[in-house]
Amino acid sequence: MSQVHGARQHPDSVLWVHPAPSRLVSASAVVLFDAPAGQAPGPGWLRIAGDRVVATGHGAPPHTADEHVDEGILVPGLVDAQVNGAFGHDVAEAGGAEMADIAQRLPRTGVTAWVPTFVTAPVEQLADRLRRYRALRAELARDDRPRARLLPAHVEGPFLAPTRSGAHRAEWLCEPTPPRVALLVDAGGEDLGYLTLAPELPHAEAAVTALVDAGVRVSLGHSEADAATVHRAADLGARLVTHLFNAQSPLHHRAPGVVGAALADDRLTLGLIVDLHHVAADAVRVAFAAAPGRVMIVTDAVASAGMPPGEYRLGGVDLVVQEGQPPRRADGVLAGSGARMDESIGRAVSVGVDLVTAVRAATAVPARALGHTELGELRPGALADMTVLDGTRCAAVPPGSPAAVARETPASPPALPGRSGILTRVAREIPASSPVLPGRSPLVCCVARETPRRSAPATGRGTRPGPGGDPLATGASRVENP
Ligand SMILES: [Zn+2]
Repeated sequence: MSQVHGARQHPDSVLWVHPAPSRLVSASAVVLFDAPAGQAPGPGWLRIAGDRVVATGHGAPPHTADEHVDEGILVPGLVDAQVNGAFGHDVAEAGGAEMADIAQRLPRTGVTAWVPTFVTAPVEQLADRLRRYRALRAELARDDRPRARLLPAHVEGPFLAPTRSGAHRAEWLCEPTPPRVALLVDAGGEDLGYLTLAPELPHAEAAVTALVDAGVRVSLGHSEADAATVHRAADLGARLVTHLFNAQSPLHHRAPGVVGAALADDRLTLGLIVDLHHVAADAVRVAFAAAPGRVMIVTDAVASAGMPPGEYRLGGVDLVVQEGQPPRRADGVLAGSGARMDESIGRAVSVGVDLVTAVRAATAVPARALGHTELGELRPGALADMTVLDGTRCAAVPPGSPAAVARETPASPPALPGRSGILTRVAREIPASSPVLPGRSPLVCCVARETPRRSAPATGRGTRPGPGGDPLATGASRVENP
C-alpha cells in the first residue's frame, strides 16, 4: 500500500480525496457500471485518477492494487433524490450551518449526493428559501470540507391536490399560475432541480411546459390525476413521479390513476420509499417488476432521520416519531420517513429485488433521472464517489427476511482495508450517547474531490452546469461544528 497523495481523514471518518496520482482499487465484490443484474456482485477493480474513475474491469486487477476492499460490496456512492431533513434539522427551516451538518453526516449512510427538498410553503417563502439555497451552494463551493454533494433542490408543492396533500399544510396549497411558477424558476435558477406538482390542477399544463423550458424537471405527485392526464404531462416533458403509491390516485383496472400510468409510461422515473411502512413488500416487487430501470429509491427523510423517537418538524408541521415507526402528524398521517438509503437497499433485497438492481435504483437511476450523469456509476469518466455496503451477501438472503443488509454492526467489526488509503471507514464508532444514527451497516464512503473551488459556479439560465459542474457539498465558512 502506498501513501495516498493529498488525502486526509475527517473526524467523521469520511475520506476526502484530493487530486491524486493514478490509483488502482480492487474489491472482492463490486457493482461496476456493467455488472450483470441477477448475479451476485463478483470481484473487480477500478483505476482512479484525481476525482475520476478512468478504467474498470471485472475479475483480478491487472497488477497489485493500491487498495483492496475484501469486506462488503463496493458500490457507487448513493444518491438520495428526496431529503426533507435529517439529524434533527428540517430542510425547510435550516440555515447554512444545519444544511452543511446534514451534508456532513449523510455519508454515514452511504449517501454521497442528495437533493434537499423544500415542502409546501407560501410561494414567496419558497422563493426566499431557494434564493438562500443558491447562496449557500455558491458559498459551500468555496469550502473543501468533506460532505455529501448538495444537488439542485427539489420543491414539493405548493401546487398539489388538496385531497392528496399528505402532511403538507393545506392552507398553503395553490394553483400553478404562470406568475407563481415564474417566481420559483427565477428564484431557484440552476439550483432548482425539479418540482413536484399535481398535473390535473388548473394551469398545470402551462406550468409543466414553462418548467421544462426553463430546465427544471417536473415530477408528478400528490395528485388525483387520471392516467390520461399523467401521460399528457409526460408528453409535455414531465419525467418523474414522486413517491409512487403514496399520496396519489391508486391503480384500478378500469381507472389506472397516477400509479397505473406511472408504471406503464416508460418515460417516467418513479421515486419509491422502501421503508416497508409507506409501501408494502408486494408493492415494492410490483414496482420493480413493472418498471425495470425506472424505480429510484428515495428516503423522503425528515428531521427525525438518524435521531431517537421524539417530536420534530416538517415544513411548519409538528411530527411525532415512536419507536420503530415512521414519522406521523398528530392525526396519524405519514409525514416523510426515517429511512436510510443503505438500509433501503437491504430492504428491497429482502423482499426479493435483485441486489444489483437495488443498488442501481439507489445510484444510477436517480443520477440519470436528475441529469447528473457523472454520478451513480463506477465507469470510466464518472466521478469516483464510492460506498462499501455491509458485507452481508444480500443476494443470499431469502425473500421475506427482515434482516438483509441492515444488520447490526458486530461489536468488533472486521477491519476494512485502506484506513489510511483512498477508502476509509465511516462513523463506525459513534458514541452510545450520541443522538445520531445507530451503528449499523459498516460502510466506507468516499466523496471524490478535485481541487477546492475558488469561485462561485456559473449562474444564469441556459448555462446549467453539467453534472460534474455541481459544486460539492462543502461547509459554509461560518459553520461552527464541522
Ligand atoms: Zn410527498
